[in-house]
Amino acid sequence: MCRVWYKRAVRSHLVRGGAALALAILVGVLVPIGRDRSMPVPAAVALPVEEARAAPADPAQVAQQAAAGIDANGPGQDRSVALPPVRIAPLVSQLTGYVWPIGNGRITQPFGFSPFGTLMVAGRLFHDGLDIATFCGDRIRAAHDGVVLAAGRRSDPELGWLGSLDAYHRRLDKKQLWGGLAIIVVTDDGNGYRSVYAHLGRTIVRPGQTIRAGQLIGYEGATGFASGCHLHFGLFSPLESATMQLDPKIARKTHLPSFEIARIDPLLVLPARVAPPQAPSPDQTGPVSPSRGRAARSAGA
Ligand SMILES: [Zn+2]
Repeated sequence: MCRVWYKRAVRSHLVRGGAALALAILVGVLVPIGRDRSMPVPAAVALPVEEARAAPADPAQVAQQAAAGIDANGPGQDRSVALPPVRIAPLVSQLTGYVWPIGNGRITQPFGFSPFGTLMVAGRLFHDGLDIATFCGDRIRAAHDGVVLAAGRRSDPELGWLGSLDAYHRRLDKKQLWGGLAIIVVTDDGNGYRSVYAHLGRTIVRPGQTIRAGQLIGYEGATGFASGCHLHFGLFSPLESATMQLDPKIARKTHLPSFEIARIDPLLVLPARVAPPQAPSPDQTGPVSPSRGRAARSAGA
C-alpha cells in the first residue's frame, strides 16, 4: 500500500515537474519570438514590470508571514519555484481593423524621437504617439472596435503607468489641477492593445461603452499640455514588458510614475493614405505617387 502511494506520489510529482519544464521551454521559446522583430519597436528601458509595481516590503509583515508559513508571493507559493508572470504582447503585424481617427488630418508630429517629446528612450526625448491635426471641434472617431476604459480627465489608471498614481493624484487634489489635464479616451481594442485619444475638447462616450471602428467618440481640442487643437493618438499593449521612461523633470514635477508601458507607432496599424492629387509638373507624366513612408510601403494593401 505504502509502495503504491509512493509510486503515485512520485509519478504525480514527475507529471507536475514535466508540465513545469514544458512551460519553461514554451516560455523560453515564446519570449524571443513574441516581439515582431521586423517592426521598429523602440528600445526598451530595462525595468521589470513586477519590480516597478512592487510595494516596499514591511519587515514586520514579512516576519509575521514567515512565521505563519506564508511566502511574500502569497499563501501556498514557494518562491524558489514560482515562475515570473509572462507578458507577451500580440504581434503588431497581426493587428487589423484600424481606421484613421481623423479623416485627412495633417501629421504634425510623428511617433519617435522629438525635442517636444515627454518620454525618454535611450536617453533622448521621445514622442510616444502620433499627432494629427485638422481644426478645433473636428470629429474624432474610434480607430478600432472596442470597449471604452476611460473617458475624461481621470484616465491615468488605464494609461499603462508602472507604479502608484497616489502621489500624482494627491498633488492634483492639493493644487486643484484636475481641470488642466487633457481629456483622454482610452479603449480596449479587444486584440490585446489599447488606443489612446488625447487632448479632446469634449468626449461623448462613457467607460464600459462598446464602440465600433469609425464611431464618433468626441471632438478635437487642445486640453492639457497642447500648443493647439490636435489629436494625440497612442497605442500600447498592457501585455508588453518593454517600457518608456517619463522625462525625469516631468516625473519630479508632477509625481507621475517614472515609467509607462512602451507604445508602438500607430502608423504600423493604420491603413495607407493616398496623397491628394497634384497638378503634374512638365516632367511628371506617371500616375500620382502615394504619400511617402509607410503609406507608400503598404499602398494597395
Ligand atoms: Zn502627441
